[in-house]
Amino acid sequence: MLDTSKLMVSVSGVRGRVGDGLTPEVIAWFAAAFGAYARRRGPGTTVVIGRDSRVSGAMFARAATSALQAAGCDVVDVGIAPTPSVQLAVEELKAAGGLAVTASHNPIEWNALKFIGPSGMFLDAEESAEMRALLEGDIPRATWKELGGWREDPGAVDRHVQRILAIPFLDVEKIRSMRFHVALDCVRGAGGTIFPRLLEALGCTVDAINLETDGLFPREPEPIAENLGELEELVRRTGAVVGLATDPDVDRLSLVSEQGKAIGEDYTLALASTLVLRHRPGALVTNLSTSRLMDDVAEAAGVRLFRAPVGEINVARRMQSESATVGGEGNGGVILPDVHLTRDAPVAAALILQLLAETGKPLSELAAGIGRYEIVKEKLPRPSQPLDAVYDALAARFPDAEADRQDGLRLSWPERKSWAHLRPSGTEPIVRIICEAPTREEAQGLVETLREALPE
Ligand code: MG
Repeated sequence: MLDTSKLMVSVSGVRGRVGDGLTPEVIAWFAAAFGAYARRRGPGTTVVIGRDSRVSGAMFARAATSALQAAGCDVVDVGIAPTPSVQLAVEELKAAGGLAVTASHNPIEWNALKFIGPSGMFLDAEESAEMRALLEGDIPRATWKELGGWREDPGAVDRHVQRILAIPFLDVEKIRSMRFHVALDCVRGAGGTIFPRLLEALGCTVDAINLETDGLFPREPEPIAENLGELEELVRRTGAVVGLATDPDVDRLSLVSEQGKAIGEDYTLALASTLVLRHRPGALVTNLSTSRLMDDVAEAAGVRLFRAPVGEINVARRMQSESATVGGEGNGGVILPDVHLTRDAPVAAALILQLLAETGKPLSELAAGIGRYEIVKEKLPRPSQPLDAVYDALAARFPDAEADRQDGLRLSWPERKSWAHLRPSGTEPIVRIICEAPTREEAQGLVETLREALPE
């Protein structure tokens, strides 16, 4: 057994600091288990592998590739590519699964493996548990004559672009006719492989920073507003109609308005959903921690909003069961089933450009038209009682709130346009609390009220 004490193992993957817990041996071990699982489950024996631009990515991809071949899997290597491009390749090649070597939005010292099933969606809790059970025993290995093959597939990103341009309601000619001036920040992640091609196909003039795919992130790579100062400056300097920022593996998109102000990643999903609902009214799905902006979008369109537990796969599965037209997470992760059931930043960018083209309104005005809320996030000490009892007590203490127990406890007061979500941390003895309300005072007040009501 290898030491996993410094790794973060979750449903969708395994993450660690390079050289401090995360080593080629660990990666190979997980990849071999995944390969054995994928082969058993099928269809076929093909496994797609791709990676973001991290310095350690090629090394870990080679370790994972060797392990997959040793497990009897035929490896198709798409190289440096967005995670959603890897996921699409799994679907297109009718592969048994895929591995994305990426630590997503995490800082430069991290890397990770993410596990993709044959549908192109990440493994869910049950599938992941089945795969990880293989780590406990002797992972089946191929003999010399059953070893898997390896080939490169340089076309995954181009096919991804074509899939986006083929979205049924995307009016490519209309967008092209606008000759949009767009600013772009790919943080030297994998976004540099796809965004210039997509934006060129959409007729945009692009002013870009950090397109190099060398993984030397020049700033914190999470595309939250506070990290986007350079892009804000670029928008102001160039007069772009929008600034686009993505994370290293290109599943999250954050926007800077034409005023040169990062508007917060919650607006990406709200604005993209607004556009999709203009063309196909239907159910929306997001997670329990996402902004009320989505309730407002659903209400304005006269459609239902469903909330799923936090975690992309939970949102995607709920989108399947509700036949949702669009969904995703408030962190800038937009899921459009017309392309696939996973977060996809280039898809989100295309939808935002179409919204600008259709409405003729500036981004700042479109965002202001949806609404404005304040979110406060805090950590509270974890109570000594079992959390189920704590949640029962809190729900009873606030009988005027709607209580949702799918994932921790979410209390909402729709008429006051506010809510609170409590979840335990997986790694620290704390409970995370998120409160949202029309003003910061109200949101902070809600945190304090719940802090006082929390049993010892
Ligand atoms: Mg990501």
